[in-house]
Amino acid sequence: MSLLKPISTIDSPGGGSAWGKLLLGLVLGLAGGFLAGRYLYPARPKPGRPPPAAAEPGASPLRPAPGPSPVAAAQAPAAAPGTAADLPDAGTAAGDAPAAAAEELQRLEIVLQRSIYTMLARRLPGRRADVLNAHLGRILVWWLDLRRDVARGDLLQVLYHPSQDINEFRILALRYRSSKRGFDRRAFFFKPAAARYGRYYDEEGREVEARLTHSPIEEYEQITERMNLAGRRHHGVDFKADEGTPVVSPYRARVMRVNFHTRMNGNCLDLRYLQSGRRALYLHLSQIAPGIRPGVIVEAGQRVALSGNTGRSFAPHLHYELHSPRGRLLDPFLAEPTIHRALTGADLEAFKVRAGELSSRLESK
Ligand SMILES: [Zn+2]
Repeated sequence: MSLLKPISTIDSPGGGSAWGKLLLGLVLGLAGGFLAGRYLYPARPKPGRPPPAAAEPGASPLRPAPGPSPVAAAQAPAAAPGTAADLPDAGTAAGDAPAAAAEELQRLEIVLQRSIYTMLARRLPGRRADVLNAHLGRILVWWLDLRRDVARGDLLQVLYHPSQDINEFRILALRYRSSKRGFDRRAFFFKPAAARYGRYYDEEGREVEARLTHSPIEEYEQITERMNLAGRRHHGVDFKADEGTPVVSPYRARVMRVNFHTRMNGNCLDLRYLQSGRRALYLHLSQIAPGIRPGVIVEAGQRVALSGNTGRSFAPHLHYELHSPRGRLLDPFLAEPTIHRALTGADLEAFKVRAGELSSRLESK
């Protein structure tokens, strides 16, 4: 376990370079199809006719080669469910055998003088800084506007399990003290006994991520990218989920289009929610449910597809994109009702013990 002291005053020359800024932009965006989105679909959404969504992770200007970007790689759970390689990802590091895993835990403490990515890049080898930054962003995005709210003097503490295998990389605990937003928050990774995936919880046992009350997918691991119209644009929300996870229409809806622009979107659906008039795009599906074709009405909760990894996608996920009736892009987490689930009973008890252990290691000097 390495104990890294607070920031030194030495300025690394790479901090302000164009390369550094490009990388920063790449990773802060977490994943998204900036270039492809711009070049292939420059037009603004037309009223009543949502455009095909932007490309998915990996369409990076920095990584023209077919290999995934660090960000895309970071969200790639290569193994199929149930395989040996998938087990570490299922929460062993945080759950049953902390003794073995604890040996390898890394602790990082930073008082920010520059962007989070720049600070990480000074301390860690490039690839690890990329991956850690991407994983941090997925948590912090629920607390902060990462472009505006990160301020000099903010405190960041991270306890993480590094791994050469990107699928085993895991942040176990995180603390962020924000001067601009005036909070001091912690997140702990924990897998409830009956849950398929572990998640991040605050000290009270409440999920850090919001969930859509009317969600197109119930079983997913994490939101790996939110909607983002600044910098690296991303027009929807990415739900990381194993291929074949059921996808439903959360509302009564009319099927408008099926499998359009499949080279980019893969198998995809365009639904119009009848009551609100909103349009929803579902991309990168592995399968469309039988009978789902243009003109068909589906009921709220009806299964319409299975999630997948088709089209321009480099990791299994559902890209879900919402448009107003006039064709304006909407952030589902702002435009739709959300909840934060909380642990209860035995899970809450187990979590409190676990959070206590992690907290003492996270904040130990
Ligand atoms: Zn997406």
